[in-house]
Amino acid sequence: MAKTAAAGREIVQSLERLSRLMRASEFGGGLNPAQWEALRFLARANRFSNSPGALTRYLGATKGTISQTVKALERKKLIEKMERPGEKRSIVLSLTEAGRDMMAKDPWLGLAERCQALGGKTRRRMDKGLALLLADEVTRRLDPSFGSCRTCRFWRADARSEDARGPHLCMLFDEPVAERETTQICVAHEPAG
Ligand code: SF4
Repeated sequence: MAKTAAAGREIVQSLERLSRLMRASEFGGGLNPAQWEALRFLARANRFSNSPGALTRYLGATKGTISQTVKALERKKLIEKMERPGEKRSIVLSLTEAGRDMMAKDPWLGLAERCQALGGKTRRRMDKGLALLLADEVTRRLDPSFGSCRTCRFWRADARSEDARGPHLCMLFDEPVAERETTQICVAHEPAG
């Protein structure tokens, strides 16, 4: 039992150290870690999740902190705020061209490449283990899972194949979902049973 706990602690220490090193690398490019996190979220969020509220839930920060982060990214012309079409009191946050260019300099891209370069078996096991840990943590905290359509209980593949905005369907919003949207993350995602 003690040996098992020690192995678990080793993994946690590696995760902690790795994440601290990555956070330290996020001070380049004129952004701070919170701004990078917000930019990264908005680059991956689907059209039901690109709002200040969803960003606040994803980052688990206070509204005041998120508001400051959004203002800083707007000042740097990396994101823009618009009214959500058909919903005057709802705001959409999206990356500008400069924001998309900045994402190409994301310091975490290098780590993604190093993960890709690991042997296939190691990478698959690591992917599975981390996904299990993340799902467990999200469930314990009752946080949104922020997964994507293909693993969501509201997803219906090819159920809107006649719709130009389809071919898939989100049963929750009763809206078509395009193929390119299926890899984006969603604040309303609920894991399929
Ligand atoms: S199917 Fe799920 S993940 Fe996809 S848009 Fe609907 S609620 Fe979000």
